[in-house]
Amino acid sequence: MKIAILGAGGLGKAAAQILAQKQSHTLVAIADAGGFAFNRNGLNAEEIGEVKIGGSVSQLGDGQESDDSIGEIIKLKDEYDGVFIALPNLPNDFIPSIVERFVAGGFEGALVDALKRTRAMEMIFELDPLLKDHQCTFLSGCGATPGLLTAAAALAAQSFVKIEDVKIWWGVGIERWDDYKATIREDIAHLPGFDVESAKALSDVEVEALLDKTDGKLTLHDMEHADDVMLERAGVCDRDQVTVGGVMDTRHAKKPVSTTMTLTGITFDGQRSEHRFVLGDETTMAANVCGTALGYLSRAHWLRERGIYGVFGSAEMMPLWEK
Ligand code: NAD
Repeated sequence: MKIAILGAGGLGKAAAQILAQKQSHTLVAIADAGGFAFNRNGLNAEEIGEVKIGGSVSQLGDGQESDDSIGEIIKLKDEYDGVFIALPNLPNDFIPSIVERFVAGGFEGALVDALKRTRAMEMIFELDPLLKDHQCTFLSGCGATPGLLTAAAALAAQSFVKIEDVKIWWGVGIERWDDYKATIREDIAHLPGFDVESAKALSDVEVEALLDKTDGKLTLHDMEHADDVMLERAGVCDRDQVTVGGVMDTRHAKKPVSTTMTLTGITFDGQRSEHRFVLGDETTMAANVCGTALGYLSRAHWLRERGIYGVFGSAEMMPLWEK
């Protein structure tokens, strides 16, 4: 499978490293705000990993500067089968508008995102008829949460006839916030007193000042996370039965808390119990998000090859693990 990645920040770069270790996939194109790189025989992941913060993949041997790198990737649509959208989603309709551009540009293939916000994902679901008409298969919410943990909840639900609640509590540790600028701004948007617009408007200096106040940690409760709408669509429970929160440490790679998904339900014979899915503390955000996103991209391609088009939440499907 030939892959294009949109976004070469923390997640885009990590996805390139994962693809370099898979024989089944070749990364042929990658875009960031400064330009893009393309090689139909495969891009050099090591070089991509070496692009500095503030740099661009346009500086690579296969790179080219552009004010509209997404448009350039769309022009190359016949060169790849699947797209991982690892772009910031600020404002909420940014990624939905990119998807519309791919369709308008004539792309017919598989796409995944690692969207987080409920409202943004609802906008993606509204694109279902458009994507069906253009024979595209789009799986949304394919990161860690939503994504891996939501799919784990859908699987855990099978032991029960009634679901009482799903609680996700995540822990992420990164050494520097600016390796994942979009992720951190989007997390800040969940803090009291902020919204998507005000978080997007923060300068890097303002983000640093805000992080200084809490020794680099962000603790988030009752996040507007699309795990809720995805589990509702998958028929597991109502959206108000799902709660998501967590702790982000932007100064240490060690996770501040373990990431857990706990689903509580009642079995057919009246037993109340819970299933818990715990991520290994050594697994980074990048490993859990990008591994899952690429697994779902393979699944989207698999569905498409079988004539199944349109938009689905990742919790309705299982990712594929390929070598
Ligand atoms: P980042 O800020 O590190 O990188 C974003 C990249 O997008 C940069 O390379 C930037 O140049 C590029 N970009 C921005 N605007 C562009 C444009 N108009 N055209 C082309 N390229 C453009 O971001 P990140 O921290 O890697 O996060 C990416 C996304 O992943 C975010 O939206 C974040 O919410 C999401 N995410 C999801 C999960 C999950 O579990 N679901 C977890 C972490 C992050």
